[in-house]
Amino acid sequence: MKRRDFFEKSGCGLFGLMLAFFGLTACKKGEAPAEESTAAQAAKEEMSQKDMIKKLLMEKKGLSAEEADAQMAEFEEKVSMVKTMCICRTCPTYVSEESELGFCHPLVGKSKVITGEKGCVCPNCPVYKQMSLKNGYYCTRKSEMEQEMAKIG
Ligand code: SF4
Ligand code: SF4
Repeated sequence: MKRRDFFEKSGCGLFGLMLAFFGLTACKKGEAPAEESTAAQAAKEEMSQKDMIKKLLMEKKGLSAEEADAQMAEFEEKVSMVKTMCICRTCPTYVSEESELGFCHPLVGKSKVITGEKGCVCPNCPVYKQMSLKNGYYCTRKSEMEQEMAKIG
């Protein structure tokens, strides 16, 4: 599959590279900040990232809200496929505290847990081969698209 096809079919759209996460809530004076479970916080961050991507689709790509929603649905569908095929768990860089997969996909973004680099088995992954990816260490260096975008400034 050609690289362009991957980005189209995997949902790795030009504007799917956002890593900015929201999710911080202001506390009322006198109230202790409520603790959130890791899963709840991750869900909030994921939602915020999706919101950011949709916003960019509309503002930068000129999509209507309906078109952006359709694109987001495609992103969602393909992210699941990438995660299913991902072999990150077999990688020496992957850590037991991490549960995320598919870091090469823009909707996943880099890991919030993994910081070290002890080797990358991405080139052995079926996603990497089928999608003709070029980079690696997506968990620490961001998605394929982001790394490619960084090369051209
Ligand atoms: S290329 Fe790497 S990050 Fe992407 S799915 Fe495969 S192992 Fe996971
Ligand atoms: S993205 Fe690469 S370096 Fe990171 S855990 Fe997956 S295979 Fe290992």
